[in-house]
Amino acid sequence: MADILHKVIEENRQGEAYAPFAEDPNAYNKKFYIESYGCQMNFSDSEIVASILHEEGFGATRNLDDANLVFINTCSIREKAEQTVRNRLQAFKKMKDEKPGMLIGVLGCMAERLKAKFLEEEKLVDIVVGPDAYRSLPALITEAEGGQKTVNVLLSREETYADISPVRLDSNGVTAFVSIMRGCNNMCTFCVVPFTRGRERSRDNLSIVAECQDLFNRGFREVTLLGQNVDSYYHTTASGEEITFAKLLEQVALVSPLLRIRFSTSHPKDITDDVLHTMAKYENICEYIHLPVQSGNTRILQHMNRTYTREWYLAKVKRIREIMPDCGLSTDVISGFCTETEAEHQDTLNLMEQCRFDMAYMFSYSERPGTLAARRYEDDVPEDVKKRRLEEIINLQNKHSRESYKNDIGKTFKVLIEGDSKRSDADWCGRNTQNKMVVFPKGNYQLNKGDYVNVKINTATSATLIGEIVE
Ligand code: SF4
Repeated sequence: MADILHKVIEENRQGEAYAPFAEDPNAYNKKFYIESYGCQMNFSDSEIVASILHEEGFGATRNLDDANLVFINTCSIREKAEQTVRNRLQAFKKMKDEKPGMLIGVLGCMAERLKAKFLEEEKLVDIVVGPDAYRSLPALITEAEGGQKTVNVLLSREETYADISPVRLDSNGVTAFVSIMRGCNNMCTFCVVPFTRGRERSRDNLSIVAECQDLFNRGFREVTLLGQNVDSYYHTTASGEEITFAKLLEQVALVSPLLRIRFSTSHPKDITDDVLHTMAKYENICEYIHLPVQSGNTRILQHMNRTYTREWYLAKVKRIREIMPDCGLSTDVISGFCTETEAEHQDTLNLMEQCRFDMAYMFSYSERPGTLAARRYEDDVPEDVKKRRLEEIINLQNKHSRESYKNDIGKTFKVLIEGDSKRSDADWCGRNTQNKMVVFPKGNYQLNKGDYVNVKINTATSATLIGEIVE
């Protein structure tokens, strides 16, 4: 499910230059720099690319001036993304003019759509590589070093990069993403992912468990299992055993009770009771589900090809709360999808009232080139109407978030310390199982990043819980 994945981006990273660090910047003659945009999946892919480049003798650098190879890992979900990428490429090109021999490459979701423009028309780049073709990077770099423009945007039905151990970039050393599958077989009409990332394929479960074990051994204490639609994870082992997402969750949970597990993203049509019971069974599987609803109206859901109804979604939420009464719940909402009426918008608000999400990623609909909606439907809800509906959705969600966080005052949560709080290095920050950020004073306790601690909540904003350590 691209939705959340792509929003996380917007919240955290959009437009932000992101480059990996070099563990030992002087250990390599050649250096690469990657700027990543978009979803968690894209950031995770950059770590795979970093691993492939390391094997080829390239060290990572944060400093553009040091780089022989500059990549931008692109996302095509937001409207302004293309312009952002073009601006960055133009800046890189200027640098290249003063530094002959430097190579510029475009990776990721925009590669296919914009290869002709970037390579031939605007001559901004030397290398264009799609999300399933990163293994071909060494050969493409060699060709590009010889002066050729190179491109590989082929999608694959098999590639999962299962055997590649990602190089963790800009990591806090506590939390890490682990890709468990790639691509998507759903055809939500507003979404470009099935076209940019291809068909769904699941990674071998043993390689996933091994990666999580390795992260744990290196001190990481939380993994987020990533996929566009994790609930449809499915792998058959060499001995014929069928591994569903529930089984995979259990296998990862058994790595260590000290390793927390999260996952993203779930599809309402696919999340099973098995998954919910497995979550409830293991304390280290976090009780938090991101369940994108997109709309509260069944006709609009059909128009979006979401393949569930309003009633189905409400029943899923009820089931989650029956099995895990304290489970954190968040969602994605799109306002003003093609043909949405005022009454249908009211259905969305009404569904939000019933579900009381802790948090939501909310956007007004914007048509993306290449999607089914762009080909089939007219984007006919006026911008001012979309905007006003979005405001109503945001206002309601803010109210629910405030209430949800306020309800936690007086409760005590087990928090995994992720690092200093943004505002003060006298405070720690970390998350509770429901994925809420908790900030609290370090006091005189001898604690470190990666430790678990009980925190009693004294006060709250609509996005942060503030408390103190209790024994
Ligand atoms: S097609 Fe639907 S389920 Fe698949 S990534 Fe896009 S929004 Fe998510």
